[in-house]
Amino acid sequence: MIEEAAADERIILGEPSLKAGEVLYSLRDVSVEYGTRVGPVAAVDHVSLDIRKGEILGLVGESGCGKSTLGKAMLRMIARPGKISTGELWFDGVDLLKISEKNMRQIRGARLGMVFQDPMTSLNPLSKIVDHLTETIMTHESSVSEAAARDRAAQLIGRLGLREERIDDYPHQFSGGMRQRIMIALALALRADLVIADEPTTALDVIVEAQFLDLLRELRDEFDLTIVLITHNIGVVAEVADRVAVMYAGRLAELASVNDLFLDTKHPYGQGLLRAVPNIELDGAELYQMEGAPPNLLHTPTGCAFHPRCPAVMPVCSQHQPAFASIGRDHYTACWLYEDHPTGPEAHDE
Ligand code: SF4
Repeated sequence: MIEEAAADERIILGEPSLKAGEVLYSLRDVSVEYGTRVGPVAAVDHVSLDIRKGEILGLVGESGCGKSTLGKAMLRMIARPGKISTGELWFDGVDLLKISEKNMRQIRGARLGMVFQDPMTSLNPLSKIVDHLTETIMTHESSVSEAAARDRAAQLIGRLGLREERIDDYPHQFSGGMRQRIMIALALALRADLVIADEPTTALDVIVEAQFLDLLRELRDEFDLTIVLITHNIGVVAEVADRVAVMYAGRLAELASVNDLFLDTKHPYGQGLLRAVPNIELDGAELYQMEGAPPNLLHTPTGCAFHPRCPAVMPVCSQHQPAFASIGRDHYTACWLYEDHPTGPEAHDE
């Protein structure tokens, strides 16, 4: 049965060209559900994704597409009534869903860092920056003295473009862009391998945003960091990402290198997102607006969840969910335009 075959393929995102050691974090068939009075809602729906060592992966989509939930799931930070209902989270050879919360706490914060949209929610307003940094270092590395932790903290702050003496200031004494740098410093204080940054530039003006994106690139190169950059702003990922994953209604719609995604987008949703980006070269042209709105996840459309909004919709689209499958080197999409489907090739509306 084709439906079953599609479901089976959907959970496999093999990248046979990758060598062992090139993948730092691997999500396999990950779903996140929230219990509601009318039943479970899948905020993330069977997502499989390999994150490569040293890359900046952009994770994009409209509000409610599941991208932030996926980031939290990677850190095992889904709060009740949510839960990770299926899947595996492989980080450096360990399935994070199989380890105790105590062990997870050691990994979270030490090897997996986080940067959120509003750093004030993560920084204690009553503690100086030096206290945040030294406490983080000494909690995870008990052999480090307070003086050594302070030295390391000051060096980090300096590396991130802040004056070292400002380490004795409180969070409210910094601007939004500076606070985001401090959040990065907290992740780097423990030499994190992977940083998940959720909408880190949303509250920044365009100049500070550009500086912050430059900094991310420099830190990736200098510290061999791997970064997952979650954003609704596809222009931000164009600036800084190596690869881009597009999410829609809790599922992956497309995954490709940043060049392929911007120059040869395959999925009609990704094409719509790109057309909606303002272009200063198109003077006076009306900005494209995608039809409709993202679905209510209580009632996700059958088949391809994008079909009620899709300009290329075909009869098969509302009946069967397309598999997330390879359509070229390092390029994946979930769309019936690129694979044979149960109603036959004559149903293609080209
Ligand atoms: Fe559009 Fe169909 Fe492709 Fe979905 S599967 S994006 S509805 S063409």
